[in-house]
Amino acid sequence: MYDIIIIGGGAAGLTAGLYAGRGGLKALIIEKMFVGGQAATTYEVDNYPGFSERISGPDLMMKMEAHAKKFGTEIVYEDVIEVDVEGIKKTVKTNKNTYQAKALILAMGANPKELGLEKERKFRGAGVSYCATCDGAFYRDKVVAVVGGGDTAVEDALFLSRFCPKVYLIHRRDSLRAVKVLQDAAMANDKIEFIWNTTIEKILGEESVEGITIKNVKTNEVKDLNVDGLFIAIGVVPNSDLVKGKVETNEAGYIITDENMQTNKFGVFAAGDIREKILRQIVTAAADGAIATYAAERYINENRW
Ligand code: NAP
Repeated sequence: MYDIIIIGGGAAGLTAGLYAGRGGLKALIIEKMFVGGQAATTYEVDNYPGFSERISGPDLMMKMEAHAKKFGTEIVYEDVIEVDVEGIKKTVKTNKNTYQAKALILAMGANPKELGLEKERKFRGAGVSYCATCDGAFYRDKVVAVVGGGDTAVEDALFLSRFCPKVYLIHRRDSLRAVKVLQDAAMANDKIEFIWNTTIEKILGEESVEGITIKNVKTNEVKDLNVDGLFIAIGVVPNSDLVKGKVETNEAGYIITDENMQTNKFGVFAAGDIREKILRQIVTAAADGAIATYAAERYINENRW
């Protein structure tokens, strides 16, 4: 039996693993696909303390993975299909194994939100993308649109402007949610054209994206725009389906914890983007992971395992 099982190998899970291993706990991280989570799809990170020269998302996350492994934390690549959060022993079933632990840290993160348009899923990988860093290079010399007004959308537009002669940044309001430093960079970039107060009504094309129909929500004017790619960056949804109805979540599905990352179930903690909180960044995910492990260790000791 493990002391702690951590589900999810993003910044929160890897940091939880690092703290657990360093603290002499027997810890297991279960990751579905690849470690690093959303941060591993980030081109450049310039706000993680200590990396003032900037570091690529994958590089930072590979360092976190190596750091967790250095302290003896195990990582397996399996798909978690069921979690039993009741009782003193927590059970995690994957597609390959069943594991048990004294405490559980839920760090499954969040995934990009869909716009919900017809053809959006059909054209995923054929002009529709949720990750500019992953797919941007396929759009070299093409015209693309990014939808959204947060940090991700503006960062994506800036990244795409390295490859594309024209990047439309389409936002449903007339002001951005993104931090000022990103706004300023995008405004100063002459390849980026802002289209304000506008929503996407339709994706056009037969086999792949050939254009979009957009609507100005102030004037109701509708028009078609020729683009080869549509990058959707309208926020994220928490990956909390696995524990739906088992731990307390808010209406949007984010897990509710106290400041010690404790959920409403004893011995079950949550960390990172999956948690209801004000700021979702690599540094806050890492901090959550450290606190979750510390609190889990205290919980284990208090229960005299
Ligand atoms: P976000 O901050 O939630 O912004 C989502 C944007 O999409 C908002 O501008 C929102 O419009 C728009 N939107 C939402 N639903 C929409 C819909 N159905 N149709 C059209 N537009 C829609 O999401 P995010 O940019 O992905 O950022 C998520 C978190 O990661 C944030 O905490 C962010 O700070 C963080 N992040 C940080 C960095 C960094 O520090 N470098 C980089 C990326 C992300 P409204 O503004 O009108 O609501």
